[in-house]
Amino acid sequence: MKKHYLYLLTALALGVTPALAQQRTLLHCGNLFDGVRNDLQREMTVVVEGNKITAVQKGYTAGSGQDQVIDLRSKTVLPGLIDMHVHLESETRRGGAYERFTQNVPDIAYQAARYAKVTLMAGFTTVRDLGGSGVNIALRNAVNRGLAEGPRIFTCGKSIATTGGHADPTNGYRRELAGDPGPLEGVINGPDDARKAVRQRYKEGSDVIKITATGGVLSNAKDGQGPQFSDEELKAIVETAKDYGFTVAAHAHGAEGMKRAIRAGVTTIEHGTLMDDEAITLFKQYGTYYVPTIIAGRTAADSARIFGYYPALVTPKALAIGPKVQSTFAKAYKAGVKIAFGTDAGVYPHGYNAKEFEYMVEGGMPPLEAIRSATLVNAELLGMKNQLGSVETGKLADLIAVDGNPLQDVKTLQTVRFVMKDGKVYKQ
Ligand SMILES: [Zn+2]
Repeated sequence: MKKHYLYLLTALALGVTPALAQQRTLLHCGNLFDGVRNDLQREMTVVVEGNKITAVQKGYTAGSGQDQVIDLRSKTVLPGLIDMHVHLESETRRGGAYERFTQNVPDIAYQAARYAKVTLMAGFTTVRDLGGSGVNIALRNAVNRGLAEGPRIFTCGKSIATTGGHADPTNGYRRELAGDPGPLEGVINGPDDARKAVRQRYKEGSDVIKITATGGVLSNAKDGQGPQFSDEELKAIVETAKDYGFTVAAHAHGAEGMKRAIRAGVTTIEHGTLMDDEAITLFKQYGTYYVPTIIAGRTAADSARIFGYYPALVTPKALAIGPKVQSTFAKAYKAGVKIAFGTDAGVYPHGYNAKEFEYMVEGGMPPLEAIRSATLVNAELLGMKNQLGSVETGKLADLIAVDGNPLQDVKTLQTVRFVMKDGKVYKQ
């Protein structure tokens, strides 16, 4: 008794919680896809201590008295999945475009917390949130503090657009409601505004910069593809972002805006729908990553066929652009463009992110590469390749398990049976 008390005091003095100092968790994995090898390993044990993987061993290691053993002998264990494009603050529904006039910030916060949990339970242990009101920053902080359950979040806070551009938050408002938003609200005109908008995101606590380089589908505006930033504005965004250690993600449907963004040095192009051969050459020349979001294109096109689902200006854009994303993906993959997994969750209901794997495989990408795009590739893009994206000693313990062999049947990722994030079990 006394010995235990002393131990507790020592542990507290060292800043280690007794549970972390004592207990190991041993995951007995029937199959393991470690994210590095190209095949599954049979009968493996992953040892977790605190929030880290401390060993990956052959066979089923027997635990000592204090160890917790988790039996996943009938499952395939993989690294936690990473989605590079989600919007945790909102979710599509009929007439949802009008919610910006009815929802208060706390309403957004409660639903965002719910969508974050749904996403985690679907096996996505890390996400990049590419645009919201700023609640996404509070959500990230709440998850990090353990106040809300969700994936590890990297967020842009608010997207940056030009006046009337895709992410101008007042598109479609009547004039006295619209006002004239500026860099504070993520709307810029000219290089000075561009620099201020990036610095404003830094001040607010963003992790990444998101710009809407061309028109988009779901904004209440006529154009869905034209360029919306000048070269000078893009240059100012990318240069300033570099100063603060940000990468830049650029939403783009039309080819001209996409090319300007790639030449300016953005890190990822989101959607990329109307990519032409010259754009493909630039992707490869600049090493830019393509984040396809096929599921969002398909869902938007399906929803547009329901009368009154979207505002009148949005419906024709969704019908014209949505169905094209999957064939663009197929073309880009075949041409050797680097692909990063991302879905635009929120444009379709949260939690169905893994459906994207099925569409990628339909588009010609083997399951192994599709899974890698959502693990090691995305970990590297987030600057986290030493911590995330594979099951290796020293990495953070983000692990999921599914039935069957996802390298043969990628659909099995749509039913995730076990989720661990940062060494903590959320689903079993
Ligand atoms: Zn998006």
